[in-house]
Amino acid sequence: QFLNEFLDLKGNIRVFCRIRPIEMGENFGRFRPVVALDSSNVLLRFSDNKNKSYSFDKVFHHGSSQDEVFSEVEPVIKSALDGYNACIFAYGQTGTGKTFTMEGIPEDPGMVPRAIEALFKQATDSNHVYLFSFSMLEIYMGNLRDLLISQPTKPMDPMPCLSIHTDPKGEIEIENLVAIRVSGLTQAIKLYRLGCRFRSTASTNCNITSSRSHCLIRISITCSGAPERRRETNKVWFVDLGGSERLLKTKASGRRLEEGKAINLSLSSLGDVINALQLRKGHVPYRNSKLTQVLKDSLGRDSKTLMLVHVSPKEEDLCETVCSLNFATRAR
Ligand code: ADP
Ligand code: MG
Repeated sequence: QFLNEFLDLKGNIRVFCRIRPIEMGENFGRFRPVVALDSSNVLLRFSDNKNKSYSFDKVFHHGSSQDEVFSEVEPVIKSALDGYNACIFAYGQTGTGKTFTMEGIPEDPGMVPRAIEALFKQATDSNHVYLFSFSMLEIYMGNLRDLLISQPTKPMDPMPCLSIHTDPKGEIEIENLVAIRVSGLTQAIKLYRLGCRFRSTASTNCNITSSRSHCLIRISITCSGAPERRRETNKVWFVDLGGSERLLKTKASGRRLEEGKAINLSLSSLGDVINALQLRKGHVPYRNSKLTQVLKDSLGRDSKTLMLVHVSPKEEDLCETVCSLNFATRAR
């Protein structure tokens, strides 16, 4: 029992790497800066022939399918049905495939629709009765916005913001966040698509590029009368993080600069929280960003965390790739 608990805790944070394929007609540069060595190592090549390798719990190369990615995520979904809180993050520079991994494309669905399907399927096959509820929100410049209610149509409309509370049991509540009970796969997928559409239209209306906000999907799972479960109600989060590119490269100013600062701050807070958890520090700095405040009760030693770090195959992105791989190393 003790050994199991120990192994369980040890394996609670996993870090994967996914290398985006070269698109048709795209020129990746003089050399391939990042190559998958095997299923858990990535080799970074610099032009002066100095190489550096990075280890991961799993590496997905340019040819890895959505199915292969999902099969590595499935144990987390299983844990969620067992009552564990879980957070799955897509991290990386804009254009490296975070949204492709999470949302996917119509002809090749990503992790979120696959996970929803797996949750319903496994719940149906079980002897217990599970209740699921679905929420979706966006964090933009420190503001939380519900993605399941209609968004302001004019850029000048004030954005409805949500606030975060902690209940006496230490559970995080987002005040007034819509949570819709979903009774079947079709309904859940429909809601998810609606949220994705609101995300892009709201961003366009307010002149925000969606790469500058974090998109969070929450599925709450309740199952009573199952004593083997970790807790009666738990949550699984899917987070499509804002682009990790640094400000210098984007030559930002004004609002763009502020957006970039907000993203960088929240990504580094997330890195600090994960690092503190890995090092078993007494103090975990959740308070430093809205992102980590929202996820506080689902991002801890008793929760499952999966970080999928996305990198570009292009030589011109090498600096950003180095930053992303360093972030990943710190998380591991
Ligand atoms: P991000 O969300 O990180 O900004 P996207 O997911 O929008 O990046 O990906 C950028 C482009 O690359 C999209 O056209 C996407 O469909 C494509 N793409 C990303 N990853 C893959 C992949 N593994 N296989 C095929 N196409 C991909
Ligand atoms: Mg995206």
